[in-house]
Amino acid sequence: MKKIEIIGIIGGGQLGMMMCEAAYTLGFKCVVLDPNPNCSASKICSSIIVGSFDDVKAYETLAKQCDIITYEFENIPYTYVKMLMDNGFQIPQGEKPLYITQNRIREKNAIQTLGFTTVKYFEIHSLKQLDEIVHKTDGKFILKTSFGGYDGKGQWHINDESDLANIHSIYKENVEYILEEKITLKKEISCIVHRNAQGETAAQPIFENVHKDGILHYSISPSTLNNITLEQAKSIAISLIEKLNFIGTLAVEMFIDTKDDIFINELAPRPHNSGHLSIEACDYSQFYCHILAITGQPLPKPLLKQNALMLNIIGDEYLSAKTLYCNYYFHDYFKLIQEKRKMAHVTFLGKDADKIKEELV
Ligand code: ADP
Ligand code: MG
Repeated sequence: MKKIEIIGIIGGGQLGMMMCEAAYTLGFKCVVLDPNPNCSASKICSSIIVGSFDDVKAYETLAKQCDIITYEFENIPYTYVKMLMDNGFQIPQGEKPLYITQNRIREKNAIQTLGFTTVKYFEIHSLKQLDEIVHKTDGKFILKTSFGGYDGKGQWHINDESDLANIHSIYKENVEYILEEKITLKKEISCIVHRNAQGETAAQPIFENVHKDGILHYSISPSTLNNITLEQAKSIAISLIEKLNFIGTLAVEMFIDTKDDIFINELAPRPHNSGHLSIEACDYSQFYCHILAITGQPLPKPLLKQNALMLNIIGDEYLSAKTLYCNYYFHDYFKLIQEKRKMAHVTFLGKDADKIKEELV
């Protein structure tokens, strides 16, 4: 195998930026592909290829300049990733997880086919079918677009007839939807796991996640759930990454209901926002383990060194947060302020985390 010196990263957002930081610690250089020359990772990478994620030539240019490629988000054409791999280029995460996670129906089908539990769901192909299912089944639902939704976008709650009537005015017959049964959530957690080409696996501690307006507000670890549930969640995530034969980092978002039953909600075949606190709170962060995994190195078992809370800084919260939280672990993403945009995050450790949690709940 060719010696890996330069890692190519598709996507230069904050995840790409933090991958660069970890890669440099481990002695690699990084080349980033992103349409924005001033993207977060541009402040840190060795060089940037400015190009569209839809431009196959940009991918070829990236491949020429590096020894291995990783991606930081899943909405890139899996056909391009496959083409590079068919030409012998190393992209350890592969194209398959992109194909699966780009579409919520494919994702849930894949999770169930591998023997894991999701909430009950229906593929929706017409308004008539939607009406029938909602009328026939007791309970509450969430209608989601199958493609392209994130941070709660493209989702509509159906609690009663008036919600259903409202959906009639926005429903598009040419869009594919998934209808999910809405369960009562006791907790939302994520289990971030890593796997290398030798088949070794490792899991980050479980992160407990709280959302606000559809966006991750904060994550804490350790989770307050009981140990049996936490161990079950970890073994589900490890078993899933093994069954997918996946190399790299897989974030498994899970719902815990009031009976402590575990449902897999979503997968991300890359490091995840909820794992950012691992940078300071764990001995080996999700980004560090990701770089180890994709470069075929042995994987350590990451341990939580102390309790922690990660707070996302959204939109114009950034203006005051930088001064307010400068004495904690502030990570600036170097972005222009935009409503609902993730601008930065701050990690609080130990007693500081306890104090901030009390203020937030
Ligand atoms: P995304 O994170 O891509 O916006 P999710 O499917 O994770 O989409 O949904 C966003 C949030 O909506 C979840 O974190 C959870 O709080 C809530 N939610 C989604 N699906 C369900 C469900 N089936 N039952 C209960 N709550 C849900
Ligand atoms: Mg989600």
